[in-house]
Amino acid sequence: MVKKVYLDANSTTGMLAEVKQEIESLLSAPYNPSSMHSAGRRAKSIIDNAREEILTSLGGKRGEYNLLFTSSATEANNLVIHNFADADIFISSIEHASILKPAKECVGTVVIKVDGDGRLDLNELEYKLAQSKSDRKLVSVIFANNETGVIQKISDIAKIAHRYNALVHTDAVQAYGKLCFTFDEIDVDMLTISSHKCGGPVGVGALIYRSDLALYPQILGGGQEKGLRSGTENVVLIAGMGRVATLLQPILHLYGSMRDLRAYLEQRLLEINPDIQIFSNAVLRIPNTSCFTMPGVSSDVQLIHFDLAGICVSAGAACSSGRIQTSSVLLNMGVEKNVADTAIRVSLTTETTKEDIDYFIEKWQEIYTRLINNEKEQDRLVRKAFDTVISSSDFIH
Ligand code: PLP
Repeated sequence: MVKKVYLDANSTTGMLAEVKQEIESLLSAPYNPSSMHSAGRRAKSIIDNAREEILTSLGGKRGEYNLLFTSSATEANNLVIHNFADADIFISSIEHASILKPAKECVGTVVIKVDGDGRLDLNELEYKLAQSKSDRKLVSVIFANNETGVIQKISDIAKIAHRYNALVHTDAVQAYGKLCFTFDEIDVDMLTISSHKCGGPVGVGALIYRSDLALYPQILGGGQEKGLRSGTENVVLIAGMGRVATLLQPILHLYGSMRDLRAYLEQRLLEINPDIQIFSNAVLRIPNTSCFTMPGVSSDVQLIHFDLAGICVSAGAACSSGRIQTSSVLLNMGVEKNVADTAIRVSLTTETTKEDIDYFIEKWQEIYTRLINNEKEQDRLVRKAFDTVISSSDFIH
């Protein structure tokens, strides 16, 4: 039997056992939080409790922030951008598609470049903010990049933005649950998180926003979530997301100690081939993420070979035709296309062991040796299989 090694936590994590238990205990109850009766009141208290747990995990003081539950971080990010469609919106060139795509539809969007390590150019941000004539400005910058793991200096960004009366949003999907931070430390006005990136269920996310901000809804109807998102709340998934918030301390500790395992992985890779490029390894990254090349071997061919070896990793951007597109994150960092096309992302989970890394390295070396010896026909067949199997999602998660 092929060994299974899951190294794709940034795409989705498995559900924590305690969360699964919580969810299972609620599955069959008739919970509609809008109902007046006791079952409804119980549902409402589950949601309120989850809201409080999540706000507390971020150091939120009572009343200072509101939390809106959504179906995903994608929905929360879209809500933010659509609320500022009439404003000047400043985003980085390495945002997730759920910011990038809606923002590109807004006429006032300004894209700020990043340096070769993927860090936002703060001087350019300040310059562009100073040029803006709009009295409504939004700065939205991804906290930790999903592909490279690069962490932005969010509090510095917030300081600059606030100086120009801009509101600040951060997509903290890859930071929440992997990095220790509080509202006070980052000082943003809005923040997006996603449950399934940190041990919770898929299908629930949240937008947290300063309680004095007036946002308008994208979805109208029964007026749930203070009118900001109509539709009966998914009590079960929300409870699961809330439960994650109560379990974060040991998880954050585990992520903290992952730096050593990642350093081991990267060191072993460089021993095999010193020409491997490891992106952003000179700057702060979330501890579980490493993005690197296999010189001369395209990402999609690598992925299918790793898959055959039982290893789940990600690469670039899978387009709807099934082929992997060049990573726009790497291109925007100034990486040559032919180099970016050989990059994959490994993102360790809280369960990854040194043995898993050794297995990955062993397979990496085997695949590399096999592929640079040009087994062309095998690759052609593997590619064909890959074309039919790969997901139709537009971007890397
Ligand atoms: N933002 C970032 C940085 C992500 O990595 C993802 C994951 O795909 C998202 C947003 C979207 O999250 P969700 O799957 O909850 O829509």
